[in-house]
Amino acid sequence: MQDSFVHKGKRKILINYLQEKIGIGDQNVLKAMNTVPRHLFLESIFEDFAYEDRAFPILAKQTISHPSTVAEQTELLELSAKEKVLEIGTGCGYQTAVLVTMGALVYTVERQKDLYEFSTRKLREMHLRPSFQSFGDGFAGLPSFAPFDKILVTCGAEVLPTQLLHQLKVGGRMVIPLGKTEEQILTRFTKRSEKEFEKEEFGAYKFVPMLSSTNR
Ligand code: SAH
Repeated sequence: MQDSFVHKGKRKILINYLQEKIGIGDQNVLKAMNTVPRHLFLESIFEDFAYEDRAFPILAKQTISHPSTVAEQTELLELSAKEKVLEIGTGCGYQTAVLVTMGALVYTVERQKDLYEFSTRKLREMHLRPSFQSFGDGFAGLPSFAPFDKILVTCGAEVLPTQLLHQLKVGGRMVIPLGKTEEQILTRFTKRSEKEFEKEEFGAYKFVPMLSSTNR
């Protein structure tokens, strides 16, 4: 698969939709999503639909998030270039690619071996290299690389992984879908001091579950 004028045209239409209909205002998010070829992360049978606001199956019974969800989560991070971001749930690597394109130093963790291998290969091919890519259980975070400016969890957590909050800098933000039901509430924590967090909620979404341990 290539990145043709047709793909680029469809991507532009998606970006207009994200801006006009979803209300994404962060120009850096829109610019990055206009650059990263989402279709290259999908199986070729989905190529024609890659720029619709849809989720698709990826390896290991997981899903790539809707473009609107990727845009909203990324916007909530309020990301600046050169910030250190911990991403939990690399999946196929699309969200990782958006973060790297925005100039973030990305540390990403995936618990499914197949997806860890797929995303490593894909991101290398596309020359969109995160600072560190890990096969492991994201509940533990990456303490040896902490603290992080931002943490993004791309799977739905039943309980708040408090270890991750410890790995945030003061002033840092974590965006995480939280909830025990089919739908999770997109939640943002801002670390005000070592002990104080501000919590904000941004509506219901459906994510694949955050699971413990790893799967080879
Ligand atoms: N951002 C990804 C979304 C993938 S779906 C993309 O663009 O494709 C969420 C991912 O989180 C899945 O790949 C799932 O395997 C992973 N995941 C679930 N629990 C995890 C955990 N404890 N640690 C790391 N990854 C986890």
